[in-house]
Amino acid sequence: MAFFDKVVAFCRRYDVLACHDAAYTEIAFDGYRPPSFLEAEGAMEVGIEFHSLSKTFNMTGWRVGFCVGNEEAVNALGKVKTNIDSGVFQAVQYAGIEALSRGEKISRKLCDIYRDRRELVVKGLKSCGLEPYEPKATFYIWCPVPGGIESKVFSQRLLSESGVLVTPGVGFGESGEGYFRISLTQPDDRLKEALLRIQQVSENLW
Ligand SMILES: *Cc1c(COP(=O)(O)O)cnc(C)c1O
Repeated sequence: MAFFDKVVAFCRRYDVLACHDAAYTEIAFDGYRPPSFLEAEGAMEVGIEFHSLSKTFNMTGWRVGFCVGNEEAVNALGKVKTNIDSGVFQAVQYAGIEALSRGEKISRKLCDIYRDRRELVVKGLKSCGLEPYEPKATFYIWCPVPGGIESKVFSQRLLSESGVLVTPGVGFGESGEGYFRISLTQPDDRLKEALLRIQQVSENLW
């Protein structure tokens, strides 16, 4: 929350609108509840928050989400949107209504799946001599690149040696350098296969 307070102060000082991309707020584990930007004092004056059904309800690519927060900004967004595009395909809208009305009943089940995969991948990477972070939220595992090499070089080597594709952290900006990312959106068997292959090349690569 301390960070969001700083964002509010920044927006007030420079008269800018904060647009919080909160796509992962419902994918969290062990009782952790990711905060909304709008919980911060004064956030409603300076900001809006976006949520997408993509991750929460496995509706990636269906193009359904919502925006809440500052009334003037939400109205302005609505005005622009209704003039530049039209509604999402109606069947998808009905699916969205169904998803939102069941809410956590659906998303909790998905979180349980991701939590189990998190255990699987964290344990597997550790057994390869790596030191992954155990995330409190999102379906990604971040792990420091072993051997002090660049994340891109590491990902390329791992891909050519094992056929496993991990995302180089630098793709997300400078602060991501030194890390790679694994996604938990594949079935358990596929993840097990990837871990096995990483294990097989680990002695050669680091
Ligand atoms: C998936 C994702 C979104 C939502 O994207 P959609 O276009 O709604 O599928 C937004 N932000 C981040 C960081 C994401 O990973």
